[in-house]
Amino acid sequence: MKEDLKVYNDVLQLIGDTPLIKLNKITKELEGNYFAKVEAFNPGHSSKDRIAIHIIEEAERKGILKPGSTIIETTSGNTGFSIAMVSAIKGYECILAVSSKSSVDKIDMLKTMGAKVYVCPANVAPDDPRSYYEVAKRLHREMKDSVYINQYFNELNMNAHYRSTGPEIWKQTEGKITHLVVCSGTGGTISGTAKYLKEQNPDIKVIGIDAYGSVLKKYHETRELDPEEIYPYRIEGLGKNLIPTATDFDVIDKFIKVTDEAAAHTARYISRTEGLFVGYTSGAVFQGVKQLEEQGEFNENSNVVMIFPDHGSRYMSKIYSDDWMREQGFSDSENNVDAEKIEF
Ligand code: PMP
Repeated sequence: MKEDLKVYNDVLQLIGDTPLIKLNKITKELEGNYFAKVEAFNPGHSSKDRIAIHIIEEAERKGILKPGSTIIETTSGNTGFSIAMVSAIKGYECILAVSSKSSVDKIDMLKTMGAKVYVCPANVAPDDPRSYYEVAKRLHREMKDSVYINQYFNELNMNAHYRSTGPEIWKQTEGKITHLVVCSGTGGTISGTAKYLKEQNPDIKVIGIDAYGSVLKKYHETRELDPEEIYPYRIEGLGKNLIPTATDFDVIDKFIKVTDEAAAHTARYISRTEGLFVGYTSGAVFQGVKQLEEQGEFNENSNVVMIFPDHGSRYMSKIYSDDWMREQGFSDSENNVDAEKIEF
């Protein structure tokens, strides 16, 4: 991975070794020390670069991927972007099956990175042959020498974080980390990182952030999927309506939920206060930390590490748009200044 070179052979050498940054201003009122692992410093601007390179290079090692092979995945989000980036550099074809709900901006971003994008109808059942899951599976079956990343059900997802994110955090905190707080989507980040860190020190407490409308928290508590927990929500990349096998629920001590609105406001607050332009789920993770602190989870000796998964630029038409915030019924931004009301 990233070595101390002045010149890099390609952008892939810059994946990983992201900075751990102390949060000073937004944590002033909180007890303990707080650090963010800022994954936007990856060349594809998210933590998903780590799984893309790891899964693709494992397939190369096993001889599954050969020159001219195709890589397939079902995502319009960060994982799609990272896979497209790695495929472009390594010379593989990248096919992404995405839902017609995905924004035009996102689809254009994937095409910019050289991916072939199949837009599939959003309003069909997952087992419908037109759904993006089924389209991806069929393409994988029909194309020999293709690899289906399948991030929710691929154990290499958590393995990537076990081998990179976990050791980096242990080294960066000189083993002094007491709490790890991470958003859970596929669960790869939290599970792999937690597994490594708990092997070093089993007392480290691991807390997952879940969304209202997702089954993860309840499943962790009951080991049952409760369909009543499922309803639409706005945060992307966090929570799920099924149980991903890429999540190891045993290494997670507990989950807490955050609201769409609080997470959005908190992301905006982090950006303007710490100067870190972060994505929606970074707001969610710090919102969760604030709730945990109020519940007395931390003390003055706590060293709390949060993972900030991606960059704010991906959310310009969402949480960083005042119009979008208003359309959701979220309260107004403190930064809105009505020029007509200013007295000169
Ligand atoms: N935040 C964002 C923005 C994401 O795209 C994802 C991945 N779906 C996550 C958090 C959660 O990471 P993981 O899938 O490793 O649980």
